[in-house]
Amino acid sequence: MDSETPTRRRPAEARSVRGAALRNALIAVGALACAVSVAVWIIGGNDSETPEPVVSNQDTGDAAAARPVAMGSTMDSATDAAMDAAIARTSRDVLAEFKHSAIRVWPYVIFLEDFGDERVNERYAKDYRVRITAFYDYMKKTYPNVVNKEPETPFRIIVLRDRASFNKFNALNGNGALAGARAFYHPQAKFIYTYEQSPGGVPLFVRGVVFHECTHQLLDFLRPKNRYNESIWFEEAIADFHAGAKIQPVGDGGFTYEPGHLNRPRLNQMARALERKNYFSLPLLFQCRTYGEADAAYKRKFGGDGGRGKGLLYYQGWSFIYFCMVGPNKAHREAIFRYIDQDVGQGEGDYNILNQAFEISDSKQWEPIQREWEAYVRSLIEARNAARATDRSR
Ligand SMILES: [Zn+2]
Repeated sequence: MDSETPTRRRPAEARSVRGAALRNALIAVGALACAVSVAVWIIGGNDSETPEPVVSNQDTGDAAAARPVAMGSTMDSATDAAMDAAIARTSRDVLAEFKHSAIRVWPYVIFLEDFGDERVNERYAKDYRVRITAFYDYMKKTYPNVVNKEPETPFRIIVLRDRASFNKFNALNGNGALAGARAFYHPQAKFIYTYEQSPGGVPLFVRGVVFHECTHQLLDFLRPKNRYNESIWFEEAIADFHAGAKIQPVGDGGFTYEPGHLNRPRLNQMARALERKNYFSLPLLFQCRTYGEADAAYKRKFGGDGGRGKGLLYYQGWSFIYFCMVGPNKAHREAIFRYIDQDVGQGEGDYNILNQAFEISDSKQWEPIQREWEAYVRSLIEARNAARATDRSR
């Protein structure tokens, strides 16, 4: 694939996710179950020059004006001015039809649609400030070699009120978000958009979904210009690793967030893939550079329409990153860091770079790691099943 060919990232199949098991005070949850989304991310290609999308009617007047929320800490004047400019531009060009406020959490600005109730607005403003700060702090601490520069203009996250509002926004400004999606990163406009209120309430794990898109947005910024990642499995896997957030309620009705914990929806999907015996060898997974290559590989191996190939990039990919970062003795954590330094820092991410990071010179050397990975994933599934059995016996 050359850099002139846009690669469109499509959401994995949508499925409904029902609450269950969200009762413990300490809930490690994963993001993006099937019910929710994944990003549609177009990299490279002729569209990369497309200017920020503009809504068709910009004359909706005062009701749409941004009401910036003051932030407690002092900002230096350059970052303040950058946030002012981003807020003015986004309010005018993108959110003219949506009454909203802007939360300033440098290097992020979060645009929050009006929920129609000041207390609800305040609750979300506080929650998003905590959430995004947790993400960015985690990234800086975990990957200091690559998360070492700030953008000139802030990262933007647009939080719509509900699904209907999300659909309207998507029609005006989107990049083709599909039904069932929960959040998207728009790679030309560089903003993330998502929504909060759902009929029947929002499962807790969905709160971590935005970390998946935040990962795309941040890595997209950090990678050297004009280079793109040649390993889409890694892009989605690392995004899902961060989306697996530990989310804990705190006394005042809010939550604390920590990325990089067990992503339960992804574990559930991986469990089904293991049951069906439909998953890739690690070297095959690592060589999938696009969704299309994953689907073609799946079709070759397992028949059918191959549609599950791209799903494997997410859940098998997630399980491998989780195994490396969290698994036995965190044995492969340093290898992942070496890979990220090359991929994100130098813009040179592909199968060969991965082999180098793991000090592998022959694909056969993946075999012991594959056995270790598979045993670890099975142990996670057993622990999950044991917890479910305990739950049922109560
Ligand atoms: Zn994604």
